[in-house]
This record gives sequence, C-alpha cells and structure tokens, in this order.
Amino acid sequence: MTTTSPILPTELEDLVELFDVAPTDSPTPDDEREAALASPRFGTVFTDHMARITWRKDTGWIDRRIEKYGPLQLDPATAVLHYAQEIFEGMKAYKHADGSVWTFRPDANAARFARSAHRLALPALSVDDFIGSIAALVRTDLAWVPGGEDSSLYLRPFMFASEAFLGVRPATEVEYLCIASPVGPYFAGGVKPVSIWVSQDYHRAAPGGTGDAKCGGNYAASLLPQTEAQENGCDQVCFLDSTTNTFLEELGGMNVFVVKADGTVHTPELTGSILEGVTRSSILQLVTDRGHGVVERRIPLTEIVDGLADGSITEIFACGTAAVVTPIGRLAGGSFDHQVGGGEPGELTMAIRTELTDIQYGRTPDRHGWMRRLA
Ligand SMILES: *Cc1c(COP(=O)(O)O)cnc(C)c1O
Repeated sequence: MTTTSPILPTELEDLVELFDVAPTDSPTPDDEREAALASPRFGTVFTDHMARITWRKDTGWIDRRIEKYGPLQLDPATAVLHYAQEIFEGMKAYKHADGSVWTFRPDANAARFARSAHRLALPALSVDDFIGSIAALVRTDLAWVPGGEDSSLYLRPFMFASEAFLGVRPATEVEYLCIASPVGPYFAGGVKPVSIWVSQDYHRAAPGGTGDAKCGGNYAASLLPQTEAQENGCDQVCFLDSTTNTFLEELGGMNVFVVKADGTVHTPELTGSILEGVTRSSILQLVTDRGHGVVERRIPLTEIVDGLADGSITEIFACGTAAVVTPIGRLAGGSFDHQVGGGEPGELTMAIRTELTDIQYGRTPDRHGWMRRLA
C-alpha cells in the first residue's frame, strides 16, 4: 500500500520555480555518494547543494536559490556568533516503494519555524518559502535520498542573524538555509531502550523563556546536563520544570510519554517551556485513534518513580523526528534508579513506532493526510 498521488500539486511547482538553481561544478562522484548512502551516520555527510534565502530589513526575503553546499564566510562580528539569534527545524524526506519522495507534516514544521522566529525576533519565513525551499533542494539532490529500510534524507532548515555588528538588537540582515544529510536507521541492529538521567541541578528552559522555540541556545544549555547524565551512566538527560523542580518536562531534544498499566497515555502538557514536537502531536492522535485515554497534564516525577516501583507505569518513551520513538528502559536520578518494563521496549511504544514509520514510508494509508509529496 502506498500513498502515491500521481500528480504533484501545481502549487508546489510554482513554489519550487521561485528558486534559482546553480548546480555545483564538483558533484560528489556516484560511487562516493553510493558509499555514503549505504551506511550514513547521523549528520556527518551532506548533499551537494543547499537552499538559501536572504533577508534584509529594507527588502524582505530575496534571492531564493539552490547553490553548492559549502562553508559560509562570516565576519567575526556576525551577530549570531555573539548573541545566538538563531532557530532551526528538523524533518525528513522519505522514499516510497514507487520512487516518489515525501515529507511528513511540513506545514506543522513551517508554522513552528514561524513561531520560533517570532520568539527570537527573527523575520517570519512564509510557509510557501519554507516548503518551496525543501522541495527545490530535495529535487536537486534527489539522488541523495536513501531507499533503504528506515533510511531517509534528514532536512535541517535554519535561520540566523547574519548582520555584522555588536549592538544588542534584532539583526537587520538574516540568512535562511536548508541543508540535507542522508541518515540510516537510528538504531543499528534493532530498537534498543535508552537510559535516562533526571537532572536535579539544571533546567533547559523557564516560563517566559525560549523553551517552546526551537533555537540553538536551548541546546547549548542542555549540553552540560547531558554530560552529567553520561557521567551517571545514562544515555540522555530529562529535565524537570524550573519553577518547582518537580514536574517532568522533556529530554534535550525529544518529548516524553508515559503509559500506565490501565492503558492510559500521559504526556507533559505544553506550559511554554516545552517544545511542541510534531511527533508528539502525531502520537497523541494515533493513541487516541487506538482508543486509549490520553492525558496532557503536569506529571510529578514522584508519580513516575512510585509508578515504576509499584508497576502502575508500564512504559515510558521519548519521541522526535530523528529517532521517531525511542523506548526508555531505565530512569535514574539522585535518589532513584528504576527499570522500565523490565528494560525491554514496551508493546504500545513499538506499535506506535511501527504505525508512524509505516505512514511515513507509505506502507500504510495516510488517513490523516500528513504526508506531502516533494518529488
Ligand atoms: C525538535 C525537538 C523535539 C521533537 O520535535 P519533533 O517535531 O517531534 O521532531 C522535542 N524537544 C525539543 C527540545 C526539540 O528541539
């Protein structure tokens, strides 16, 4: 079963045509590209081109183009290097069995990109330019979309303050780019549960801060606690709310779900310091479709720790575009250390993972109209 629609919407053609394509004079040789596609490691290999649009306060968005992938030359005073006025997105392009290439809910990413831009005092990029840039890049680098099982072309749209000045104010010059990197299965050799360290000392975001914007600064703040998690023998860090240090928020780059023995599914409600994941919102829909009770609310860490001890919590998983759904097999912190579901991936966790990837790879009908054909 595929989700192929025979024709591409003319409207998408119009968006793509706005981009001038200047092909690289030194494309990666076919054998080198094929070797890279055979065993891609996340975020290490990039395609031959990148999409780019320039913004100036007096012109708005100009110069939509696809150009050779390569280093950017930046003045040392470039604003982003000093005050971190930067945002990004993460998406994937999936090759279906018939060779067509699709992406998942790009409108949601485009809308979030605009919300992030607003919070970081950056100019909004239109949904049309966002989707047009991705389609134009994917079509130019079509040979880079892997066809293997659970492989995809990871897309990284981002925007930064490119004006060279050291004053503190929103930049009047901004660059938008989208780069692309072929990625293989996140879990080589099958899905393996990860261990999570709940940080007591650090937070990634605070009310009124930038936690619900997808900006590089949030990640910078998560790196030290992530190191601390690893020093405590865990794979990833989970943050609590910064006001009371008691409620579960999310991991450095993934949202989190809890499944109870009674079949209900719980996830921290969006309080302004949690990033609203597209995967999170899709999973909320899929578990609702399955008839589970779904609750978005504040979840105290104590409830999780007690629930793991008494067996009323059976599964915990993290989710995001890169890893899709990641089972959590162990949750530890200063005063507790519990296995989750005997350290094995949970049943619902894996069912949701399969259902979501089946939709993304066109192996099951796309009943919510989430997929958008790019090429
Ligand atoms: C990107 C991101 C997520 C996951 O979002 P998706 O849209 O599902 O990929 C979750 N938390 C943070 C902090 C993120 O940056």
